[in-house]
Amino acid sequence: MDIDDVNAVAVLGAGSMGHGIAEVAALAGFEVRLRDIEEEFVRNGYEQIEWSLDKLVEQGQISESDAESTLDRISTHVDIAEAVDDVDVVIEAVPEKVSIKRDVYADLAAAAPDEAVFATNTSSISITELGEMTDRPARFCGMHFFNPPIRMELVEVISGEETSESTLDLVTELAEEMGKTPVRVHKDSPGFIVNRVLTPLMNEAAWIVEEGDATVAEVDSTTKYGLGLPMGSFELADQVGIDVGYHVLEYMQEKIGDAYRPCPLLEAKVEAGDLGKKTGAGFYDYESGDGAQVPSDQVREDVADRLLAVLANEVAGLIENEVAEAEAIDTAVKLGGRWADGPALMLDERDLSELLDVLDERYEETGEERYEAVSYLRELVDAGSSFHGSAEVEDANGDDGYDYDAVTVEVRERVGHVVLDRPHRMNTITDTILEELRDAVERFEDDEEVRSVLITGAGDRAFSAGADIQAMAGGAGDVNRAADLSRLGQETFGRLESSELPVVAGVDGYCLGGGMELATGADLRVASERSEFGQPEHDLGLIPGWGGTVRLQRIVGMGRAKEIIFTADRYDAETMADYGFVNEVVANEELEARAFELARDLAAGPPIAQRYTKRAMHRGWDDVDAGLDVEAQSFGLLFDTEDLMTGMTAFMGDSEPEFEGK
Ligand code: NAD
Repeated sequence: MDIDDVNAVAVLGAGSMGHGIAEVAALAGFEVRLRDIEEEFVRNGYEQIEWSLDKLVEQGQISESDAESTLDRISTHVDIAEAVDDVDVVIEAVPEKVSIKRDVYADLAAAAPDEAVFATNTSSISITELGEMTDRPARFCGMHFFNPPIRMELVEVISGEETSESTLDLVTELAEEMGKTPVRVHKDSPGFIVNRVLTPLMNEAAWIVEEGDATVAEVDSTTKYGLGLPMGSFELADQVGIDVGYHVLEYMQEKIGDAYRPCPLLEAKVEAGDLGKKTGAGFYDYESGDGAQVPSDQVREDVADRLLAVLANEVAGLIENEVAEAEAIDTAVKLGGRWADGPALMLDERDLSELLDVLDERYEETGEERYEAVSYLRELVDAGSSFHGSAEVEDANGDDGYDYDAVTVEVRERVGHVVLDRPHRMNTITDTILEELRDAVERFEDDEEVRSVLITGAGDRAFSAGADIQAMAGGAGDVNRAADLSRLGQETFGRLESSELPVVAGVDGYCLGGGMELATGADLRVASERSEFGQPEHDLGLIPGWGGTVRLQRIVGMGRAKEIIFTADRYDAETMADYGFVNEVVANEELEARAFELARDLAAGPPIAQRYTKRAMHRGWDDVDAGLDVEAQSFGLLFDTEDLMTGMTAFMGDSEPEFEGK
């Protein structure tokens, strides 16, 4: 069967997942038969779809008539034969109980058309095992949506042992038709991809606390602010339900082994009925307390290493067992876990050999199976390679000589664009970023193609949230290292200021501390509405160490600069525009395009005149006479350039000049 042959889809179970799956299928234009065991249940599911479609209309995502036609495509049923008699695909979303699923498959064998494809939304049960309970294991696979299906883009498409390639292709295409991003899970392995990566991480977080090595606050601070994951480990457990993670672990322990033995801390919470948000208490108190308040200043490097070591082992295990490739794992966890970056990519930024050492040391100390490193991880470390492989990384950066680890560089329409590329760590600045940024700017100056520089941050959370806390912490006790780091930052950002090319900073999201000092080094700044600025160093007992004390006042005046640094407050984009720091504030979704446009406009300007202007302005800042000298000399020199002729001619002819920089 081809995707074009699919007209009608049955969704069995109108609960949390079933109604959502029915909604996305109907929105995609399929005829949907929604079935539950009682009229009341199926009605309830239908009403939830109505409510959700109304919301989409309210938010302007669909029109009133789209909502109506979507509802028209959905019929509700209690009689299973009636629900499936003419469908092409059946998606099963009944409770996660093998006995219930078995009964449903028996009914299906009698009632569904012979050629129909079956898919199950199970989160944990073996696809092979379930397939064997159907009359068509070759035409059966997993189609694992995430909650809520209307919003979550990921669908894991899981192969059972008997599943045919054409079934997987069809279900993959079906997910795409529904506007989702399908990720193939080649083997039916417990937890598939997302749960297999996230649950052991939650378990390890619990073990760290159980063993008294860190507090809940320290672990969550490290997960959220050190690793840059969307939530703290315990915050997430409370959100999802501690019982949910606990049962997945129990299941994985049974199927795979003791590496997944749930931590007693989780067990105790489950036994006490403190399951998280839904019961009012879990690791945090949601009724009498303030809920999950994760501190940003309790990041611990040893905790980060331990969590990452377990993560690296899981990712390596999935690749070794050919469950999924690094790329697929990254996509799945980004979409299913809402991570800013995939785990494999994140781990590639670390020293894998150090993480392997953590595993080896802990295994030797404790003999716990979860620390037993998988061979693939060891092979990677021995080969000095990474999850994505060095060859692939080079390809991604192209062969134009701009080949970096922590920033990505693109030259387009004469703009040299540097993207701080550590979105999972809010683009915080490390030595590597400083070195690579400086190198990129110097190469741009030598590259005839490049006429202006644009700096932005990857992702939509931060331009840069400051210096990498861990990198700074590593040097905090070492006076020389801290002073060196300050010099390196000062020089790098000074390099932007003194660059012959005009530099634009495109700020979207946090622009704090060292990130703000970076933006200060640019010539022009454009920011999205949601951006937040600040120099929080005084809160840490520090001072801005990358030129902030000297350069910020040149832009906003000493009074405002003192205010910003002494209060250590956060400022919104509009206020920073009033202060003269931000040249232009634009709507969030327009930032990228507008920042590029500005850089492109500057790239079309007269290169020699731009260079001399920067030189005269900077020289004249603290020495008016010297600046005026530079200005006068430059003025004279410009009379000898072709650019002047070009500019004059274009001006007379009312056309756009094409400056050559000659
Ligand atoms: P749910 O309890 O909300 O809904 C299940 C529905 O199935 C109920 O309305 C129930 O009345 C109905 N049902 C029971 N027997 C039935 C039958 N014989 N035929 C038709 N309907 C029947 O459960 P849910 O959370 O929607 O989970 C459904 C499936 O989706 C499970 O396999 C679960 O593991 C999986 N899943 C759940 C989530 C989640 O976050 N809730 C996420 C991904 C996958």
